[in-house]
Amino acid sequence: MAEESQERIEFKTDVKQLLDLVTHSLYSHREIFLRELISNASDAIDKARFAALTDPALLEGNADWGIKLSVDKANLTLTISDNGCGMTREELIEHIGTIARSGTKAFLEQLKKAGGKDQPELIGQFGVGFYSSFMVADLVTVRTRAHGSTGWQWVSEGQGSFELTSCEHPGRGTDVVLHLKKEAEEYLETHALRSLVQKYSDFVEHPISMEIEKKDEVLNSRQALWLRSKSEVKPEEYQEFYKHLSHDFNEPLKTIHYGAEGTLEFKVLLYIPSKAPYDLFRKESFKGLQLYIKRVFIMEECKKLLPEYLRFLHGVVDCSDLPLNVSREILQDDPRLTQIQKNLTGKVLGVLKDMKEHEPENYLKFYREFGPVLKEGLHYDHGHKEQISDLMLFESTKSEAGALRTLKDYVRDMRLAQKNIYYLIAENRSKALASPHLEIFRSQDIEVLLLTDAVDEWVIPALGEYDKKPLKPVNQGALDDSDVKGDEGNLKQWNKTYGALLKSLQTPLDENIKEVRLSTRLTDSACCLTSETGGMTPQMERMFQAMGQAVPKQKKILELNPKHPLLEALQKIHAKDKESAILTDYARLLYDQAILSEGGALPDALHFTKKVSELMVKALSH
Ligand code: ADP
Repeated sequence: MAEESQERIEFKTDVKQLLDLVTHSLYSHREIFLRELISNASDAIDKARFAALTDPALLEGNADWGIKLSVDKANLTLTISDNGCGMTREELIEHIGTIARSGTKAFLEQLKKAGGKDQPELIGQFGVGFYSSFMVADLVTVRTRAHGSTGWQWVSEGQGSFELTSCEHPGRGTDVVLHLKKEAEEYLETHALRSLVQKYSDFVEHPISMEIEKKDEVLNSRQALWLRSKSEVKPEEYQEFYKHLSHDFNEPLKTIHYGAEGTLEFKVLLYIPSKAPYDLFRKESFKGLQLYIKRVFIMEECKKLLPEYLRFLHGVVDCSDLPLNVSREILQDDPRLTQIQKNLTGKVLGVLKDMKEHEPENYLKFYREFGPVLKEGLHYDHGHKEQISDLMLFESTKSEAGALRTLKDYVRDMRLAQKNIYYLIAENRSKALASPHLEIFRSQDIEVLLLTDAVDEWVIPALGEYDKKPLKPVNQGALDDSDVKGDEGNLKQWNKTYGALLKSLQTPLDENIKEVRLSTRLTDSACCLTSETGGMTPQMERMFQAMGQAVPKQKKILELNPKHPLLEALQKIHAKDKESAILTDYARLLYDQAILSEGGALPDALHFTKKVSELMVKALSH
């Protein structure tokens, strides 16, 4: 019968790639294989134990949850056994034959870009899990049986394929048998295994036992770290637990450990990583926290415990007031989870404030990695808007590159009479600094915040004001003349002089430009584009275009500098022939120039270069 069901199955291409990379690039971190396999075993037990809450039939036979390590020195094998949920044949194929997780492709590409070198941070972020066995083994056998199913055996050399056969398996659960490579024989030694378990898996709740001198010995202390008092936990223990939770190889930047008492009692252990994962801005990077109820593991990724803008956190919440036997779906709607989330948000924002004040360097590290995510809170969390706005850091026209300012700094340093806080959104600092919109602010010594995060576009308008001072973009709407004193006195006269010229310049641009007008906001440049208050900024337009969405056509305003010599020159041509083709050409050129100065792409670059070349020839042949 075993013969009949034998089947060889090819790994999916991405598994092959992953296996290849894992076996070749992670060599110096190969000892983590044990942590990964123990962690899978522990998860499988958690699953079975959770299912047994509602289906006690699962307890029959083996309710002494545990993980066992056994060594066969003669055959060079190390076996990791558990009495967890086991896998059906389909689950075996599904879970350890494919990579089901999204983002795999992106991950593999990043790894390849890194040249297949030792890249533990990347692999760590992704968590290679089971496949790490092939760092130490040249043959892996998995024997498993799920509740109510028959046993199945999976064998692979970690090359192109695996073999499935049915097999006898005494109880529910899984054995992973590693046929160790010659150079990994050290993992047959008791002291090596004991020290690995203590290093990486000490806090695993289920006993990890091993037969030592004919007696079973439990290798881990099994203490739930979050339930211990802070003073008892060693820094290394916090760090190892973090690595276990996050699969990150780096140390965490900050550990937050506290207990809440009162109407709702719970313990919280949270970590802020020191590096952002590569997929921080993908929807699926929001995992939530692990939820335990009275030490019993309930859910791996409980999203209700965190607002999305704190998705960079890893951690555990253990609540003693939640009922143990409810379904996860019902639990997700429990208002107590919202209550915990609120408490936790307040706590984390408090810790960040503290870091900002007392450990500015660490805070800066945090901010550079996760600032843009935290900013999303300005939009989504009105209750904490003020707190979050005080945590924001910005580049500004008054700071050196890289030295960041707060809104508080801005307000403290502005003139007493200044009413608004000014900002400019741009792709990066140097593009921002090149913007003609800054000219008048520079000439009047008014600070402008330079916002360069993609999220600024929608979160800053959501913030609206700070310390009762409205936040105003410098490139939208008219300037507030109580703050910015342009040459308004002369504007009337200039409008008279150039009125007819402006109309002639407008006609060829009608399709794209709502109005050509004179402006006092320019001191050096000839022209710039502005939009009406509340209109879309150039970055937002580009973002929508990049997402393949139709951007509603918004006509801009082309503003010209009346003091620029170009205007006088154009005026002369206009006086001779107000329908001159030169005016049409120049109108287009001014428009193109204004687009370029805000970092935009020209609708017809060829036309622009042709016209500029013509002009160059003309200028030289004068
Ligand atoms: P991860 O554990 O991060 O999901 P792995 O590659 O380590 O990734 O494991 C893939 C899947 O295989 C697991 O999610 C689980 O469903 C299944 N699995 C692995 N080991 C076991 C085990 N000991 N018992 C039951 N299922 C397991």
